[in-house]
Parts: sequence; structure tokens; C-alpha cells
Amino acid sequence: IFGNPWIFIRGVPAMKFLPPEGPPEVAFAGRSNVGKSSLINALVGQKGLARTSNTPGRTQELNYFVPDGYSGEGDDLPPAALVDMPGYGYAQAPKEQVDAWTKLVFDYLRGRATLKRVYVLIDSRHGIKKNDDEVLTLLDKAAVSYQIVLTKTDKIKAAGVPKLLAETAAKIAKHPAAYPEILATSSEKASGLDELRAEIARTVGV
Ligand code: GDP
Repeated sequence: IFGNPWIFIRGVPAMKFLPPEGPPEVAFAGRSNVGKSSLINALVGQKGLARTSNTPGRTQELNYFVPDGYSGEGDDLPPAALVDMPGYGYAQAPKEQVDAWTKLVFDYLRGRATLKRVYVLIDSRHGIKKNDDEVLTLLDKAAVSYQIVLTKTDKIKAAGVPKLLAETAAKIAKHPAAYPEILATSSEKASGLDELRAEIARTVGV
């Protein structure tokens, strides 16, 4: 699935706009500015696929991406889909926006049988913060399997990575739906990307 071009198919502001369940999908979640768009773009090798630097307050949508070249009709379904979930954790976000995020995300997580895994991105410089932990709890409640992906590892000293991995592993140990293995990535240095691509391919079964 990687190595071929991916395309954006739609932005989903509410459950009724979700594409019909079809291919297995994996989703990406993280605090705004965690490096989510950069990571998705680095994974597929297309700079402009996911839009970087989302502005706070803009419409919150689930963005759907699929490999190009499938009509989506009949049996001509794409083999997988990637879903970019709206970022969370803006300090300035009004309560209504946080509530709308939680509703959309929880409805999606609970209702989507074809969702195979959520990759929860954590900035290497910050580790798991309170609002990340709340999202992990939401994922536990929705009983969706998820895996932690550290981003921007180029921003910390190489010697700090094992320590961060150990601290992060200790924090997720109490989360029942968390996959124990944590991935360390840098979109900037293209490190950890092959491991993440392999995990995704295995997860969607291609
Ligand atoms: P998003 O809001 O989670 O989609 O985050 P973006 O992908 O827009 O990235 C936020 C900022 O972090 C941008 O200035 C990126 O250039 C920067 N960034 C993203 N990934 C990396 C990385 O791996 N290393 C470094 N040094 N900076 C990164």
C-alpha cells in the first residue's frame, strides 16, 4: 500500500458523512502540533497530502485517505484507508469545541467496525500529557486497539530515547487497550517510518 500514491477522499464533520464501511482502516490521533500531518505525509511520501499546521478553531473533521486507482464501486475497493483525526488539546479551545471533538471521535471509535487500530502520536519532547491520557482512556472505553508513536525524536538527544520509551511504557501499562510496543519516529529524519509502515500493513492485512 505504500509506494503508490494516496488521495484524499473526504472530510467527515459528523457520523452521517462517513464513507460506508469497506476497507480496513487505521486512524491517527494526537495533540495539535504533534507532527501528525508531517508523519502522514512522510509515510506516503507526499508532501501535501495531509495539510500541515491546522489552525485552531477550524472545522474539525476526520480526513479520509485511500490509495489511488480504485473506483470504490462493487469489488473495486481500496485495500486500506488512513484516517487523520482532528487534533486535540488547544489551550484556547472553547468547551463546545472540545465537546464536539469528543462526540465525533467517540461516536466514530465506538461505531466503526472496520477501524483496526488508532496510532496515538506523542511529541518526544513532552511525553504523555494529561489530555493525551484522557484520550487513551476514551480509546480504552471504546475498546479500540491503539499504539503509541513518538514523534520528532530528532528534537531530543539520542540517549534520551530509551528513557522516554521506558517512561511511556510505564504510563500505558494501566491502559487495557494499548499495544505494548511503542514506535519512535522522526518525519524530519525519516526514522522509524519503515517500522510504522510495516505495522500498518500488518494491521490492515496487506
Ligand atoms: P500537526 O498539527 O500535528 O498536523 O503537526 P504538523 O505536522 O503540522 O507539525 C507541527 C510542527 O512540527 C511543524 O512546524 C513541523 O515542521 C514540525 N515537525 C513535524 N514533524 C517533525 C519532526 O519529525 N521533526 C521536527 N524537528 N519537526 C517536526
